[in-house]
Amino acid sequence: MDTPYIPKASLYKVVFTDKPGLEILAKGTTLAKLMKLQSMKLDLNETDAEKKTFAFKFFAGRVVRWNMAHPPEDDMDEDDITAEGYCVHCGQTPGALMVPSQQSLMCLEVSDVMGIIFGYISAIASVSQGKGMSGSDGAPSIQEEVMRMLGEMQSPTTLPKLS
Ligand SMILES: [Zn+2]
Repeated sequence: MDTPYIPKASLYKVVFTDKPGLEILAKGTTLAKLMKLQSMKLDLNETDAEKKTFAFKFFAGRVVRWNMAHPPEDDMDEDDITAEGYCVHCGQTPGALMVPSQQSLMCLEVSDVMGIIFGYISAIASVSQGKGMSGSDGAPSIQEEVMRMLGEMQSPTTLPKLS
């Protein structure tokens, strides 16, 4: 008992039923952060800039690797592209693989990003729940609470699969 146990960070590969081909390798997160997100009552089409920034920053910090490409030139407005052919917002090349960062998330459609974030949270929360942490006195566990919250705000098409 004298030797401290250093918790090992988990890595999850998250894929999405409604976004075939997208693969995200992400770190886990703490219950404290999940609870903080829960308390914010995020919406799929979140318009509150402060909440959006918090969620994007949180998620960008979790992603280790992904295969997300920048939206192609055809889907961008003319004034979003520099004369040299780069995105004016993130400086990356339209259609090319994006660096996983908060800046990159800002260049995707809000509902897409929120769907991905919800999917990730739901995947992480269900893994924790799978470890048998239910309330012993009949009260719902914190994980069950998180899952219930997710059930309310998640669109059924964004349910992720973990591998
Ligand atoms: Zn961009």
